[in-house]
Amino acid sequence: MSDELIRLSAAELGEKLAAGDVSSVEATRAHLDRIAAVDGAVHAFLHVEGERALETAADLDRRRAAGEALGPLAGVPIAIKDVLVTKGMPSTSGSRILEGWIPPYDATPVTKVREAGLIPLGKTNMDEFAMGSSTEHSAYGPTHNPWDLDRIPGGSGGGSAASVAAFEAPLALGSDTGGSIRQPAHVTGTVGVKPTYGAVSRYGSIALASSLDQIGPVTRTVLDAALLHDVIAGHDPLDSTSLPMAWPSMADAVRRADVSGLRIGVIKELDGAGFQPGVRQRFHEALELLERGGAEIVEVSAPHFEYSIAAYYLILPAEASSNLAKFDSVRFGLRVTPDGAGTVEQVMSATREAGFGPEVKRRIILGTYALSAGYYDAYYGSAQKVRTLVQRDFDAAFAKVDVLASPTAPTTAFKFGEKLADPVSMYLNDIATIPANLAGVPGISVPTGLAPEDGLPVGIQFLAPAREDARLYNVGGALEQLLVAEWGGPLLGRAPDLTAHELSATEEGAL
Ligand code: GLN
Repeated sequence: MSDELIRLSAAELGEKLAAGDVSSVEATRAHLDRIAAVDGAVHAFLHVEGERALETAADLDRRRAAGEALGPLAGVPIAIKDVLVTKGMPSTSGSRILEGWIPPYDATPVTKVREAGLIPLGKTNMDEFAMGSSTEHSAYGPTHNPWDLDRIPGGSGGGSAASVAAFEAPLALGSDTGGSIRQPAHVTGTVGVKPTYGAVSRYGSIALASSLDQIGPVTRTVLDAALLHDVIAGHDPLDSTSLPMAWPSMADAVRRADVSGLRIGVIKELDGAGFQPGVRQRFHEALELLERGGAEIVEVSAPHFEYSIAAYYLILPAEASSNLAKFDSVRFGLRVTPDGAGTVEQVMSATREAGFGPEVKRRIILGTYALSAGYYDAYYGSAQKVRTLVQRDFDAAFAKVDVLASPTAPTTAFKFGEKLADPVSMYLNDIATIPANLAGVPGISVPTGLAPEDGLPVGIQFLAPAREDARLYNVGGALEQLLVAEWGGPLLGRAPDLTAHELSATEEGAL
């Protein structure tokens, strides 16, 4: 029973809860049991709130029994990326500098999932301050990919993706500044969505780069992502960049999915050199399926996408260096007082030296340099001009097609340590995902199968014009239906049985 419960999609679990076939306490306990059994090996979670989750679930069951009208995800457990602050629950953003800090309020997306009756299980692991593509930059040790425990689960939101792929949670929240929802989805065989910039409130999301950050769903099916998207999207007066508009139902877009007549543009610059053959093979097979489903596939060019990484790795560090200035030993978390010294500057400097990891320091230095007088125009100013050119590439492409498509990332999951010593090789992972953040447009990653050469999951990315998130759910939902029919079941049904690792030495050590 409990194994069956954890394998249901969130939508299916929601239906069973509504029908009274199962209680939220049972569903929550099943996921907590799963976490206890496999998270020693996976390390998706930084913090699990078992007791509180069971109490929230019991309360929800009582409300349901009293006849309260509840939404489709009420009673379903959820994992939350540690970038989002949670009232009374540790929130570290993967950093030592926030160790021990207990926020006094909930981020708006957390408030919204609570109001929708979802049950927060705990906080998921991530690269420190969401900087990275592998979770190896987490101050608390990496998360392991459930498909192969020696490999990375993507980043920065590897914990959220792995928790969902390992059936520890049916759903999770993530954040995407340059791909941190979509790239982990690609390497773990899950679905990840970066909504339009401003669609979901960033209030209470520990800022990395404020002009790029966006919160979004991490799930096993496109419908689940849509249901969660419908819960978290909407205007929030507490975030001045939040869009004041009413959104159509994303779940309806999935339920009515139909690609006949849809024009899909394949981005020429993201379909060639540097992409693993198996990633491209599955990408083209997915496009063929969509074509058979009635879509029209055309090639489009986005000539400035090749400069996206260079522009992003100036804009992001510039904004991050400013956002991270608030971690000063006075307001939050860690405080290190050097021997016998008392000046505020010495305490700040010792705290930041001890509290930030090497990647965070690298980006603070890069960002401060790029913003400094004399270099501002050459670096930050030029990067902003490239950003405009990337936005124009999107405008030109969307004048011809309804959605764009590319592989979500160049390769399948790499091994731990493979890219750690060379930051630029890590940054190159983001080649396909970054343009969407620079332009503020929405993107989805949907699994397309396993790469033939290594048997690891790969995904396809679709991008739509700003505010047209529903198009992603339409095309993603249609493709998923076609693929699952071809596979004879969901891709994650083929993932290794992690309970075999339950008693391994690593797991015991980690627990
Ligand atoms: N890999 C990207 C980076 O390191 C993605 C970050 C993100 O989306 N949070 O900046």
